[in-house]
Amino acid sequence: MITITVASGKGGAGKTSVSSALAAGLGHRGILADCDVDAANAAIAMNATLTSSTDYYSGDGYQVDAKRCTGCGLCQRVCRFDAFRPTNGIFTIDEALCERCGACVDACPSGAIITENKLGGKLMVSRSFLDSAVVHAELVPGEDTSGKLAASVRRRAEDEAERSAAEGKPIDAIVVDAPPGIGCPVIASLTRADMVVVVIEAGSSGVRDAERLFELCASMNRKTGAVINKAGMDPEWDRKARELAGRFASPVLADLPWDRRFRQSTERAEAWVLSQDRFVAESASRLCSAVYQLAGLPSVTILGS
Ligand code: SF4
Ligand code: SF4
Repeated sequence: MITITVASGKGGAGKTSVSSALAAGLGHRGILADCDVDAANAAIAMNATLTSSTDYYSGDGYQVDAKRCTGCGLCQRVCRFDAFRPTNGIFTIDEALCERCGACVDACPSGAIITENKLGGKLMVSRSFLDSAVVHAELVPGEDTSGKLAASVRRRAEDEAERSAAEGKPIDAIVVDAPPGIGCPVIASLTRADMVVVVIEAGSSGVRDAERLFELCASMNRKTGAVINKAGMDPEWDRKARELAGRFASPVLADLPWDRRFRQSTERAEAWVLSQDRFVAESASRLCSAVYQLAGLPSVTILGS
């Protein structure tokens, strides 16, 4: 079993559509792991039904035990993030400002600052219409542990693959839908990747953000292949996207044209590869074949209607 991560460096470049096409192309032998935990929507794209949901705890949060607090104010003095609020001689912590550095715990002479395991969100498994697993998550608004939750989604997908294999239903690949950017949750999404599909949106910000992603992949020694999305709007940006892929020795696996039929398929919540629109289904099938071939997986025939 291999892991294919789909990333783009920016939001709105089409990586969820590409990820769900790749997962749907594998049928019940693929698992989709939606690591974009701030805006998870792969389960919608896979028309999946929720089968389990567990609470996700993000780790240490800090609170002041009012019974032990003497009001000395030492915690407020050491906190570099101005997170303490004194009220009638008792200090409380503004969670939105706390960076969880722990300095106040060391400074408090009364042992009044206690830790709590904070609820950070939910980790969920759904079944798609292809009877394949979709692992996804929901982060509590304002929580800042999306990297840890993204890693939990990836690990849960690996557990699902193991469980499926133990039941005699082996999985060929986990397809990971990475979040935008190049931060901690993206690194968590790339950690076990055998191959990264870089979706380059053919435009100024798309090419710039993809460049930073290629640099990250190179620093992590990941094999990459490129998909140029919204191609044909401006030949100059198509050329720059190809030149960027070439600079990082990344083969261009597919050009997806800027065509309203892709958007219409997405609006119908279809996985492109199974679209009722033959043009979309064939384009996505060719994309899948190119990705599977580079990843060493069997090719697919043309799907859709
Ligand atoms: S350092 Fe401890 S005892 Fe002093 S004000 Fe802060 S929480 Fe209260
Ligand atoms: S853990 Fe750090 S940031 Fe949070 S309240 Fe304590 S000193 Fe401030």
